[in-house]
Amino acid sequence: MTDTPLTEPLPRAACIIAVDGPAASGKGTLARRLAAHYDFAYLDTGALYRAVALGVMDAGDQIEDESAAVRAAENLNMARLEEGDFAARLRTADTGLAASVVAAMAPVRAAILAAQRQFATMPPDNKAGAVLDGRDIGTVVCPDAAAKLFITARAEIRAQRRFTELRENDGSLSFETVLADIQARDGRDANRATAPMKQADDAALLDTSDLSIEEAFAAALARVEAKLNP
Ligand code: C5P
Repeated sequence: MTDTPLTEPLPRAACIIAVDGPAASGKGTLARRLAAHYDFAYLDTGALYRAVALGVMDAGDQIEDESAAVRAAENLNMARLEEGDFAARLRTADTGLAASVVAAMAPVRAAILAAQRQFATMPPDNKAGAVLDGRDIGTVVCPDAAAKLFITARAEIRAQRRFTELRENDGSLSFETVLADIQARDGRDANRATAPMKQADDAALLDTSDLSIEEAFAAALARVEAKLNP
């Protein structure tokens, strides 16, 4: 060991907030608001799985075709996630269901793990931290996150929220179909072998069923503050 003095300050480790939970639990809205509050970068990891699913379908391959899904994951272009038409197609109910199929494939998850960790540890625009939302952020992607939340809500409430949102673009949609889709997705996400959706042991649970967005945000912020500034 030499005694050379440090001339450069060590880079400050990024502060990571992990927000997990099932579809339409409110985790996306809360994660975005937390990112704005702390001026952190925000990554919607569900959009990555949705983009992989769209990549498979756009290539004319079957959604169950694992090698096609791995190919799509390896060719994932994060910059496209914000592009108008592509971004709109990402949000549909069909893409969400297809995403939960490719998300159950271990090699697909492995292919996009490094990009998620890179975003978390070296957030874009030199931000001091990052908020990531998904299903396995607190358990697999960022197990050392400084604060972890697991957001949930009753299935009927989540289906009603998603129904209201999707109905704007698809008048023929029924509540029953949305509820069935949410339940199918919950089942697939919670029961898959690789990185199943699960509350991390050190994550704070927040049920948003009976809360307004403002109440839910206040509760989420209080839980994060308890970890970051105890
Ligand atoms: O959060 P969102 O509904 O956009 O996620 C779409 C699908 O992507 C989920 O149903 C889940 O199967 C998958 N996903 C995942 N792990 C994440 C984020 C999303 O498996 N971290």
